[in-house]
Amino acid sequence: MPKVLITDPIHEDGLRAIQEFAEVEVSTGLTEDELVQKVKDCDALVVRSATKVTRRVIESGANLKVIARAGVGLDNIDVEAAKKRGIVVLNAPEAPAIAVAELVFALMLAFARRIPQADASMRAGRWEKKKLQGAELHGKTLGIIGTGRIGQAVAERAKAFGMKLLLFDIKPNQEFASRIGAEYVELKHLLAESDFVTIHVPLLPETKHMIGEKELALMKPTAVLINTSRGAVVDERALARALRSGQIAGACLDVYEREPPVGSPLLECTNTVLTPHIGASTVEAQRAAALIIASKLRGVLQGEKS
Ligand code: NAD
Repeated sequence: MPKVLITDPIHEDGLRAIQEFAEVEVSTGLTEDELVQKVKDCDALVVRSATKVTRRVIESGANLKVIARAGVGLDNIDVEAAKKRGIVVLNAPEAPAIAVAELVFALMLAFARRIPQADASMRAGRWEKKKLQGAELHGKTLGIIGTGRIGQAVAERAKAFGMKLLLFDIKPNQEFASRIGAEYVELKHLLAESDFVTIHVPLLPETKHMIGEKELALMKPTAVLINTSRGAVVDERALARALRSGQIAGACLDVYEREPPVGSPLLECTNTVLTPHIGASTVEAQRAAALIIASKLRGVLQGEKS
């Protein structure tokens, strides 16, 4: 049986699935030196976000055929070094779409109904019913930038809330647009017309600071920006200025240019709802990621044999 080393906790159902076709060692909290030793006789390494799979780790894995990330981003894996050695790198980008889409609604509703303020006020012994009047999502326009897996899951849920939709994507998916009853528009149009703007594009050289000073200036003063994609898609300094000057009404952020966003001007803004990159952090998404990785890993390791 192939040897699989798992160095970050993964959902137990995924672990069991891997044990069906491999000899598994689970060893978490390793230093780089310890990992370099352990990986030497392994066929596959499974990680989440904590383990740093450096060039040194990869080069010491003489038998290493696969590195699998039971999650989305590959930021903690030296993919170039792996490729050079012909090692397959796997991830599970399909897993968290629902979790992230639900977080988008949690954030929009938290902002619109002022839940963080209401909770803080209750705990301070106050009963500020009148002061905490909010707004409804129903009838509002939601602009979705990026209509891949997560953008589409957001759109489906927005329909149930009675929201109007405007879509933007570099590769418009007309089949999806007609199924959901929405249209693709220019980015400028989406920014100018939306009450809520939610971003679901990957971080690429073309999408870095895709939302900056010029784009924020097009938005309504009552609009709210939601970013659960990657921090650097938004120019945070420009966003902080727009929030402070009232150019836009608010922002809900799960991702930051630097994580944690120590010293970010966004932490000083009061018209924000902030979460610490928890988009994919649900039991269900973690289970799905572990099962998807188990299945892909089996495919590669068993494909190797035949
Ligand atoms: P996806 O690949 O399914 O969809 C991305 C969409 O963006 C595609 O339709 C693509 O055509 C579009 N796109 C790419 N470049 C563009 C551009 N320049 N302009 C307009 N559209 C462009 O990806 P997904 O699974 O929906 O994930 C979207 C983002 O969410 C990713 O950046 C991912 O890192 C992030 N994410 C965050 C969390 C979290 O914890 N907050 C969890 C999972 C994913």
